[in-house]
Amino acid sequence: MASQSAPRPTPGSIEHFDVLIVGAGVSGMYGLYHFRQMGLSVRVYDGASDVGGTWWYNRYPGARVDGPGSPYYCYTFTDELMKEWDWEETQSEQSAVLAYLEHFADRFDLRRDIRFETWVKGASWDEATQRWTLETSTGERATGRYLICAVGALSTTNLPDIPGIEDFAGETYHTGSWPHHPVSFEGKRVAVIGTGSSGIQAIPEIAKTADRVYVLQRTAQYAFPAGNRPLTAEDRAEARASWETIRAKMYAHPGGFPADPNSRIAMEETPEQRDALYEKLWQRGSFRFFLESYADVAVSEEANASMANFVKRKIREIVRDPKTADKLMPNHFVMTKRPILENGYFEAFNRDNVTLIDLREDPIERFTRTGVVTRSGEKPIDMLVLATGFDAISGSMLRLDPKGRGGVPLKERWKERFHNHLGLMIHGYPNLFMIHGPGSPGVFYNMPLGAERQMGWIGDVIRHMQTRQLGAIEPMKASEDAWGAEVSALANATLFPRTDSWWTGANVPGKPRYFSAYLGGSIYYHRLAETASKDYPGFVFEPDCESKK
Ligand code: NAP
Repeated sequence: MASQSAPRPTPGSIEHFDVLIVGAGVSGMYGLYHFRQMGLSVRVYDGASDVGGTWWYNRYPGARVDGPGSPYYCYTFTDELMKEWDWEETQSEQSAVLAYLEHFADRFDLRRDIRFETWVKGASWDEATQRWTLETSTGERATGRYLICAVGALSTTNLPDIPGIEDFAGETYHTGSWPHHPVSFEGKRVAVIGTGSSGIQAIPEIAKTADRVYVLQRTAQYAFPAGNRPLTAEDRAEARASWETIRAKMYAHPGGFPADPNSRIAMEETPEQRDALYEKLWQRGSFRFFLESYADVAVSEEANASMANFVKRKIREIVRDPKTADKLMPNHFVMTKRPILENGYFEAFNRDNVTLIDLREDPIERFTRTGVVTRSGEKPIDMLVLATGFDAISGSMLRLDPKGRGGVPLKERWKERFHNHLGLMIHGYPNLFMIHGPGSPGVFYNMPLGAERQMGWIGDVIRHMQTRQLGAIEPMKASEDAWGAEVSALANATLFPRTDSWWTGANVPGKPRYFSAYLGGSIYYHRLAETASKDYPGFVFEPDCESKK
């Protein structure tokens, strides 16, 4: 597919665009479409060989969409895409989501403006020309008036630092950068480190053919039935017929889901009523468990315990060996780590070939060439699967490490906190926009829809600047401080910051530990609209350097 991408320039030359986008995933692809529609010249760079971003990389066994599920994890800007695309299941496999994104690229001829297999290794702001210059791994250079970082909230992999891991001679894969060649588990002894969404999706699939699976668990997790089911022709026809209403609901819902906001309070009902509702939702599966149960589970300890205890009972009912079930009991507030949907995860522990190792009581000491050594002894293995997650939300921005005014690297500006305004812009980094970055609802929102809405706001900023001959925009430091305080106040009113998670940065040693996502839901998009309608209070503009000449 890379052959269809933008042709390479002659060596040493420099290309000029209105908009540069880093990342050809769900967000970057939409940005390319949107800015092209505005008549702007756009160039996108991506290290992968084709479109898809996270869906290009995360092709581990069992990878599926969860969250809003199909057909609602999609672009909403045109009815045509909705009407012409047939989803087969409610929780589509990775290959189906990728096929949809490839279709989007084909449909709007996107690849001609994307340079694949090209890492952006440097980005710097030039005060004199009011432009960003990018340098790539292939030695190319390009400038753009605007730089859009669609680098992915979950794309920089987190690799565990365990003694001897580099000496292990068997196959080693990270779920977030799974190879494109087929991987066989047939007859192999496989160790899986990590029991987040990726590990919990992969483990039952691996167990189907592996000789032995060692599940190396640091934190026991709550997981809920995915409730995946085939979508029938009737389901599709119904979704198409009511698409206008569905889309309006998605826009109004705090998480961008096609659901009514929930206001039911757990502690106003009896234990029997609560259990009856949980049971009904457990049987149906999907994120409905959270969307249609109680509004106070993330804020009230008692409400939280009612849900947590229900899930713990379910785990004990499913897992036959009581000692294994004990090890699988989570002890944090439910929902305060990213909720997980599973397809046979707990049932996998009833298989003879699956062994759970609780790393809290039997920690990994080291790897050898042929196995993993925990306190209780060595387990010989042929393959190591790292389902150890990501340096999430901020990690990919820091990997890009743009240099702003005065050549200041973002790594320096973000040493203690991921300062930003509206989750979109950073003081000292004019005309640079982040998608799904810190300070935005990002990972708490339906991500394709969130990307469309953020890109729409950026497009409005560009129009505003073009019509007024403005060359640069950046937020004031004081706006960043106020926004940061709002982000933290919203989070601190919930139970979320009280649990170690990738939401709080606790999964990456040395990372600033605070809850960096904006929890105000769709209020966020009202704030963006209000800022635009008032001509961007909290931001400063500079005249276009060309118009000053
Ligand atoms: P994750 O949720 O961060 O889980 C990583 C797992 O690895 C955790 O169990 C973690 O333990 C463990 N771990 C990390 N470092 C370790 C170490 N040094 N030693 C032992 N264990 C270690 O990552 P993920 O499962 O890849 O999921 C990340 C996010 O991606 C999800 O929350 C979700 O938002 C998204 N995702 C979505 C889907 C989907 O269906 N759409 C699928 C996969 C992922 P601790 O809990 O103790 O840190």
